[in-house]
Amino acid sequence: MDFLDFIFPKTCVSCGRIGAYICKSCFSKIEFVENPVCPECQRQAIGGKTHSGCQKRYGLDGLIVATKYKGPVKAAIQKIKYRFAWDLHKILLDLIADSLWRFDFPKDVILLAIPLHARRENWRGFNQAEILAKDLARRFGEKYQSRLLIRTADTKTQVGLSREKRKANIRGAFNLSQNSKVKGQNFILVDDVFTTGATMKEAAKVLKHAGAKSVWALAVALD
Ligand SMILES: [Zn+2]
Ligand SMILES: [Zn+2]
Repeated sequence: MDFLDFIFPKTCVSCGRIGAYICKSCFSKIEFVENPVCPECQRQAIGGKTHSGCQKRYGLDGLIVATKYKGPVKAAIQKIKYRFAWDLHKILLDLIADSLWRFDFPKDVILLAIPLHARRENWRGFNQAEILAKDLARRFGEKYQSRLLIRTADTKTQVGLSREKRKANIRGAFNLSQNSKVKGQNFILVDDVFTTGATMKEAAKVLKHAGAKSVWALAVALD
């Protein structure tokens, strides 16, 4: 335990026990996504690749996701949204890194974070998806592109909206700063939670229209 831990002890985001952000007992209850699923129908899919029958021309090609959005992972993601904590971020990063082997995504990818609208980012001071994307790229020696995908609309939160309403809410929310960097490239879009995937699918559409070869989604947790 270092000095700061002594003054501000870490408490488990799930049960409140002192010592770590996710205590051993809560960590053991994390539900991993052992069988990858298709981003369109969320049924089991080998390597997380979109089923050929589900594939849309401008849609996602696959989904990488580490755990279910429940218990300690849900608590951790909600906590980090409002206050960044490196140790907590590292737990989420490790959950993804340790799960990557299950997924059959293209080699040589460019990681992109789902951007927040500038106004929201200023209010929070950071974008968790961006920190995740940057750190994953660094860890695996992949490219990370900041500010290629930009958010042009400050949409309402997707929380609590139905699948159809989410789709309508996010439509037209993204744009590209440089179309020339997209053609023929493989992308992985990074966000913290994948629910219906409406946000990821909208971003994929913009990239595919600009000539992206493939677009995968990556999230810590599947809701
Ligand atoms: Zn706990
Ligand atoms: Zn499917």
